[in-house]
Amino acid sequence: MSDRIYQRLGRSSSNWLLSLGLADEPGAEWGRVRAVQISAVRRFALIRLCITILASITVFSALQGTVPTLALYIWFGVTNLVGLVATVPHLRQREFPRLVASRSELHLETLGLILAALCWAFPQWAFGTLVAPFELLLLWAMSTALMAGANYAMARAPLAAVSFIAIVGGSLIFMMVKLGMPTMVVITSLYTLIMVGAALLAGRDFADHVYAALTLREKNEMVSLLLREHEVSGGDLMWQTDSSRCLTHVSPRLADALGLQIDEVNTRLILEILAGDKWQGGNFPVGLREFADKLIGRQTFSDLVVPVEIKGETRWWELSAAPRHDENGTFIGFRGVASDITDAQRSAEKINRMARFDTLTGLPNRLQVTEATGQALVSAERWKRHCGFLMIDLDRFKSINDTLGHLIGDRLLIQVAKRLQIAVGSNALCGRLGGDEFGVILDEVGSSSEVESFALRIIDALSRPYEVDQHTLYIGASIGAATGPRDGRTVETLIRSADLALYRSKDNGGGCYNAYEPQLHSHAEERRVLEIALRKALDKNEFQLHYQPVVNAQTGVIESFEALLRWNSPELGSVSPAKFIPIAEDARLIRTIGEWALRTACKEASQWPQDVRIAVNVSAEQLLDPEFVTTVLSALSQSGLAPSRLELEVTESMFMSEGTQALTVLNRVLALGVRLALDDFGTGYSSLGYLSKTKFSTIKVDRSFVQGASRNLPESIAIIRAVVALAESLGMSTTAEGVETEAEYDMINKLGCRKIQGYLFGRPMPAADARGLANRGTVATIAA
Ligand code: C2E
Ligand code: CA
Ligand code: CA
Repeated sequence: MSDRIYQRLGRSSSNWLLSLGLADEPGAEWGRVRAVQISAVRRFALIRLCITILASITVFSALQGTVPTLALYIWFGVTNLVGLVATVPHLRQREFPRLVASRSELHLETLGLILAALCWAFPQWAFGTLVAPFELLLLWAMSTALMAGANYAMARAPLAAVSFIAIVGGSLIFMMVKLGMPTMVVITSLYTLIMVGAALLAGRDFADHVYAALTLREKNEMVSLLLREHEVSGGDLMWQTDSSRCLTHVSPRLADALGLQIDEVNTRLILEILAGDKWQGGNFPVGLREFADKLIGRQTFSDLVVPVEIKGETRWWELSAAPRHDENGTFIGFRGVASDITDAQRSAEKINRMARFDTLTGLPNRLQVTEATGQALVSAERWKRHCGFLMIDLDRFKSINDTLGHLIGDRLLIQVAKRLQIAVGSNALCGRLGGDEFGVILDEVGSSSEVESFALRIIDALSRPYEVDQHTLYIGASIGAATGPRDGRTVETLIRSADLALYRSKDNGGGCYNAYEPQLHSHAEERRVLEIALRKALDKNEFQLHYQPVVNAQTGVIESFEALLRWNSPELGSVSPAKFIPIAEDARLIRTIGEWALRTACKEASQWPQDVRIAVNVSAEQLLDPEFVTTVLSALSQSGLAPSRLELEVTESMFMSEGTQALTVLNRVLALGVRLALDDFGTGYSSLGYLSKTKFSTIKVDRSFVQGASRNLPESIAIIRAVVALAESLGMSTTAEGVETEAEYDMINKLGCRKIQGYLFGRPMPAADARGLANRGTVATIAA
């Protein structure tokens, strides 16, 4: 107990002297306290100056006439001069410019205040006995007010405050003694003592407080440096330099980590040690340069990641350090810690690589593609040139994925990626954007025909058949291209433009290339509106079926009707199926719409004479539905239509992936006794090989060949001849589509097509009209 009291007393007695600046302690702490003390005093420089001027003017005007003029003038001049010299240099910069101050600097401030105090003591000492009671009172009041002010403003530098108060107070007491006013002597003495005591106490508390705060901060900094070091490496890689950045001390572990002995390290430049072989070349990596800058700038830094050359291997260190100062505030070097973060850095690099490459194909992923596009755009802007972005989407990939499974789909994508890389070559960067979408960035493009031929080369490369696990797979590729900055100044707009162009390629049936045009934006918007309306159309009963007759080419007898969808939207008017069917397929609405068409058509046809059949169009997408066979069966049984009176029209696109589920579904439908027709023959791959894959009853020759033949185009005529011959030999029938004129009819008849469909014999018509025509049994044109 007594120990503690003794300690407290001992400490506080030494603190008195320290706070007054009359003693010092080793270390820079009290130097810092003194700097704060000086700053605190200088904060009041402006107020001090104002008070000096105002008070001196007051005293001057009060005493003028009663005291010797010359003496008064000299006093006035000296007082203001002293005030100006002590304060003006600090008016603009109130803070003490350095972190550490010496005792003599603090004493200089004290000296300024002692001089000021002497100035204020002078009138009482020299004029006290000459003036009238009123002026005397004024002098007294002025002096005590100045003492109170000094106590308040200067208390942080207690020696200065005490000196001021004591001198001014002492001269007041001297004046009162001279005038023989004992009561005033007692009052003034008490007042002065209280002021001195208060200034000393406040000054010591302030100094103690600053000292405590500073040492605490210092300790915190050191503790956190050590803690961080300990957390990171479980050891202590500590280092210290002198002011010329040479190592003066390193911990044994740090020398060990560098693969050097302690004495090999000390006295050498820290930068030289860390740079290793690169020191000679002078070409430092970024981290090291930043480190050098911090050292030169004498700045505190933490967690600076720096590459360190150790025996030819690059390792990564994280450095934290703070500058050190001696008690005079002079910079004496750095003290810091280091930790080896190479392992963490390497796994970060790995993660970074994983984040930038597609794991399946190894191509750059969407992130990297977007970055590269951004860079291409920037350099295109800078060099006033154009860059290109190609968006590639595989045709029919989805159906392969759906029917053969994801494993095959993935393997196919790997092959696609390889081919794409070869096709693109080293002139451009290609990457996978996701799913079956790829992107190619061309840093510089010349003409649009250059982009086009580049794109066509890619389509060609990607469209050749693939061998995956004994399957021969046929897919195609569609490409949309946009040129930056013309079609988009930002990555998003450029990619969006390419996407819109891609949409058009898809709309055109795939396998082709389109460049962006501004009007595509409105197409895309139109498409979006259509899709939204389409989603509600079935529920709102906006669909109808029209029926178009198919007649015997020789006799004109009606053999069947083809059911064709009609959509009358209250908002959009009547929309062509050529427009909305592809959208319904994309939006996966075709299954429900197709089912409706099938059921409606069967029901309608069940009203017709037994020898008139009904043909219903079926999208490839519908054949991927495992429920499709059940749907057909249910449509037949509900309508009571004989299976042989139903013909399903499918297109070549369903064969694009070999061994598909679609074919299985078709064969099961055939087993029900339903017939199949191959629609639009000649427009797709036109491979006669497809004909042997399943049992078609009819081949429908596309309208373009009918037109071509009537214009005597040799290829059209040859194709129709070949199809007719093949069909005959396989026991199939042929239908010519879109016969509009007598001339076309004559030509088709000559070429041997068995059935004809076209405006010449009847347009698609409402159910009631079709029923009437079916009952008549023949079309007027041929019968006539
Ligand atoms: P499609 O299966 O090739 O149908 C024949 C198209 O040719 C019909 O067009 C028909 O109106 C038109 N056409 C018939 N004769 C002539 C002619 O002499 N001259 C001209 N210029 N055109 C003629 P539509 O009705 O516009 O249908 C377009 C396509 O929409 C159809 O082509 C078919 O692929 C699809 N489609 C229509 N209804 C359905 C349906 O219920 N389901 C599915 N999946 N697709 C359908
Ligand atoms: Ca058709
Ligand atoms: Ca057709």
